[in-house]
Amino acid sequence: MTAPLTVRVEDKLYQNRYLVDTGRVHIKVRPHASPTPELRALLTACPAGCYALNGAGQVEIAADGCVECGTCRLIAEPSGDIEWSYPRGGYGVLYKFG
Ligand code: SF4
Repeated sequence: MTAPLTVRVEDKLYQNRYLVDTGRVHIKVRPHASPTPELRALLTACPAGCYALNGAGQVEIAADGCVECGTCRLIAEPSGDIEWSYPRGGYGVLYKFG
C-alpha cells in the first residue's frame, strides 16, 4: 500500500504566474473604520491569502496573487464592501504552469 499523495496549497499556488497591471487594481476594499463580518470572512476565505489586517485593524488587499476564483466576490461584493472586476486581458493569473 502506498502513502497518500499530499500537496500543499502553497506549493500549487507557487506554480502560477502573475502579470501585474501596475496602477490598475482589479479588487478594491471600501474604506472602513472597522471591518464588517463580510470583510472579516475574507481573511480566511481567500485561498491565495490576499486579504490581511493592517495595523489599524482594517482589512486590506494585495491582489497581485489573486487566482480569480470569485470567492471574495460572492461574500463581500453584494454588501458593497469590495469592488471586483477581472484584470484587463493579458494581465492577472497565468495557469499554464500547473
Ligand atoms: Fe482571493 Fe479569490 Fe478574491 Fe482573488 S478572487 S482575492 S483569490 S478570494
